[in-house]
Amino acid sequence: MKQSLLRNLPKIDELLRMDVVVKSLEDHPRRLVVESLRQAIERFRLEILEETRTVSPTVEEILGVSLEILGASLAYSLRPVINGSGIIIHTNLGRSLLSESVMDHVRNVSTHYTNLEFDIEKGARGLRYTHVESLLTRLTGAESALVVNNNAAAVMLSLSTLAYDREIVVSRGELVEIGGSFRIPEVMKISGARLVEVGTTNKTHLKDYKGAVGESTGAILKVHTSNYKIVGFTQEVPIEELVTLGREKDIPVVYDLGSGTLGDLSSSGLSPEPTVLEQIGAGIDVITFSGDKLLGGPQAGIIVGRREYVDAMKRNQLTRALRVDKMTIAALEATLMHYFDEDRVISGIPTQRMIFMTEDEVRRRAETLKSRLADPESVRIDACTSQVGGGTYPLDRLPSACLVLRTEKLKAQALSEALRGWPTPIISRIVDDEVLLDVRTLLDEDFATVAEAIDALVR
Ligand SMILES: *Cc1c(COP(=O)(O)O)cnc(C)c1O
Repeated sequence: MKQSLLRNLPKIDELLRMDVVVKSLEDHPRRLVVESLRQAIERFRLEILEETRTVSPTVEEILGVSLEILGASLAYSLRPVINGSGIIIHTNLGRSLLSESVMDHVRNVSTHYTNLEFDIEKGARGLRYTHVESLLTRLTGAESALVVNNNAAAVMLSLSTLAYDREIVVSRGELVEIGGSFRIPEVMKISGARLVEVGTTNKTHLKDYKGAVGESTGAILKVHTSNYKIVGFTQEVPIEELVTLGREKDIPVVYDLGSGTLGDLSSSGLSPEPTVLEQIGAGIDVITFSGDKLLGGPQAGIIVGRREYVDAMKRNQLTRALRVDKMTIAALEATLMHYFDEDRVISGIPTQRMIFMTEDEVRRRAETLKSRLADPESVRIDACTSQVGGGTYPLDRLPSACLVLRTEKLKAQALSEALRGWPTPIISRIVDDEVLLDVRTLLDEDFATVAEAIDALVR
């Protein structure tokens, strides 16, 4: 029985000759058609083997499965989702969004030839980094700047350039892991530098650093412990003292800021943190930070600092391996331009707009979204809190407003799954057995889809 069913499964060639198959698949690339037919038959073969199928599939059935597989293989894997989690810089959801004004520049330079590495005045070869260097030095007060693929690369390049085969002194309180794949001790190993740990987890004193720096020290590294806080009996050495020590010994002080903010964010209610400009002003020799965290731009690693050190990095062969594409440079250039004008920071940088969105504004937007529902009473609006995310401000919360969804039929877990299964997946969060959509991270353009999903799922 099994054997005869298996024998009866049609061959690909046979299928490809049938009119009905040809007709329904003629609009698709032949290679994908063959692949999908093969996969469909394989699926039926397994069902027969596992005896979950006891009759031969019809051609229509095979065609149906094949079209389904074809549809999935023709769809993009990377696609938009709606972020109702309230986490603004959500690494799993792609961190910062780029605005239309930024994308206009990216689109324009990506669909044309450009002066990426061409000095138009001289008619000679130019450097791709020049397009953002002066923006970065003006905004941070640094002498020189360089951009690589991401901040992990920026840290690696800095350490490799300044301390290859030499020692780097770091506080034990700062040997952090960020997002699972970035561990300071590992990055250091790859950079070819040797780690010298000083102090203890909760306290590091200047004398600890002093005792560790010597002939073979290549750099003193400070790491912004951005994603956690040690509270209680703690001590870290003030930046100014580290800088003074570095000057005395002629050793560069490198600061991995991680998020790195160009503007003051404290009026949003977040705890005050020094800006990159202030850190450079305090005398730090090299600062590295991400392009797609608080800055709100594309994925990039930004290095700013003293010319002698940054120039050495530009000459490092590693830089070639870590170099950024023109799309990144365009997105970064357009993002940075916004920073010369406070209003444009809010209007043109979605991450900043979400951070500065007031509680009143979020609530008003929640009311708007609620009023768009077929049955506005099917949800309620609650106060909730958003997080900045991206390993920044681990303890800070921004007061926000959430739509709270409940159904008789679906448990919170099932409802949140159904939202994720929406054609444009909607990411929610579950609190106390209820599904929450934080309006701070929803875009205005998401409202129609979200309303449609709620109308369909919550009744
Ligand atoms: C996020 C972060 C990194 C890694 O930056 P990427 O841009 O993700 O490579 C490194 N160091 C610190 C302190 C960070 O917060």
